[in-house]
Amino acid sequence: MTTNHQSSPVRTKPWVPVFVSSEEFDDREREYVLRVIDKKRSFRFHGSQEESDAARLEKLYRDRLNVSHCLAVNAGTSALIAAMIGAGIGPGDEVIVPAYTYIATASAVLIARAVPVIVEVDDTLTMDPQALEAAITPHTKAIIPVHMKGIPCQMDEIMEVARRHRLLVIEDVAQANGGTYKGRALGSIGDAGCFSFQQYKLVTAGEGGMIATNHDIIYARASIYHDSAYGFWGLNQYPDVKLFPGENYRMSEINAALGLAQSERIDSLVSRLQRVKKRIAAGIADIPELQLQRIPDPDGDVSYSLNFFLPDAATAERFSKRLAEEGIPNGTIHNNGFADRHIYKNWTYIMEKQGASERDTPWNCASYTGNVEYSPDMCPNTLDWLSRAVSISLHQSLTEEDCDDAIKAIHKAMGRN
Ligand SMILES: *Cc1c(COP(=O)(O)O)cnc(C)c1O
Repeated sequence: MTTNHQSSPVRTKPWVPVFVSSEEFDDREREYVLRVIDKKRSFRFHGSQEESDAARLEKLYRDRLNVSHCLAVNAGTSALIAAMIGAGIGPGDEVIVPAYTYIATASAVLIARAVPVIVEVDDTLTMDPQALEAAITPHTKAIIPVHMKGIPCQMDEIMEVARRHRLLVIEDVAQANGGTYKGRALGSIGDAGCFSFQQYKLVTAGEGGMIATNHDIIYARASIYHDSAYGFWGLNQYPDVKLFPGENYRMSEINAALGLAQSERIDSLVSRLQRVKKRIAAGIADIPELQLQRIPDPDGDVSYSLNFFLPDAATAERFSKRLAEEGIPNGTIHNNGFADRHIYKNWTYIMEKQGASERDTPWNCASYTGNVEYSPDMCPNTLDWLSRAVSISLHQSLTEEDCDDAIKAIHKAMGRN
């Protein structure tokens, strides 16, 4: 790689806004949120359910995902916890999570009182199905594949392993709302799918989350867990399911209104993002040293993140720096010096088996008879892929000229003109 550093950068205009979601805030968001203000109703269970925006949001996702049940909650983390509790996961159980995901995935397992087992990701930067199978023990109850950065996991392989070992699959779709796998909506393939509407995600409700499932019992139990008085609102369609104590994960009508306005834009957003990513990916396909991330189903990629691998970590670092100098900000494993909470070795309290209580944690409770060990070097393949990865954030606002700037800058940073 020989680059002429003296020449002026390819791009001097700023690259993309931080958020995909809130950049779309417009008259529709304003109208829906103001409608809630005018109705003087922020609590979803007070008044008619036909008039509830939380109920409308659930219907939108039932229709989008083609599932029988959706439950709106106050965060993606809450969605994961309530889905696990709903599925009967608890003390004594192990749940397999990928080594590359937001820390909340693993934390949610612990809050459900189960033990996270961490497995390698591969060149898709999502769960490696072989590593998954190798990690199964007699204690394993469930698998959480995470569709990281909008990329669908290898769901055929994962579902096949799950079926053979009779394990539950809970998809973490927090980063891949709007994505598909072989024509099926992400979040509708496993036993449950969990979404987040936090501002960094494709669409936002301010804060919020959603559980999707075709299982009546998972839905009923998740509903009970998401509201300590759920059984008393007269809404429980499954009176045979025993009541038990819950938290408060309810979604407010204001969040629901915002989430509804945003979620009506998903298809348009994804198609704009896909156009951008396809153009840049095609424009850099002639550079053999750039290995594009393998994408299990490119048609289902939400496409807000372009990721590729360089031959080794040192080359990736040099390339990343040069690309930034050419005006295209990008990310590497070093994350500008901040410990990236998406990489397992930085999940400090999990690496140290630290719970809220010293005496009573999912790892040392009497129900758990397994033995899970963690160490920062336990997933060398994951660390190798991430050390060679360079990631560029994309945005729906990018024009063809902007894409061509990126293509030019990548060529120049690679020493090609
Ligand atoms: C954001 C995120 C979550 C948590 O969602 P919140 O709404 O922030 O609670 C869970 N998993 C992944 C992969 C995420 O990116």
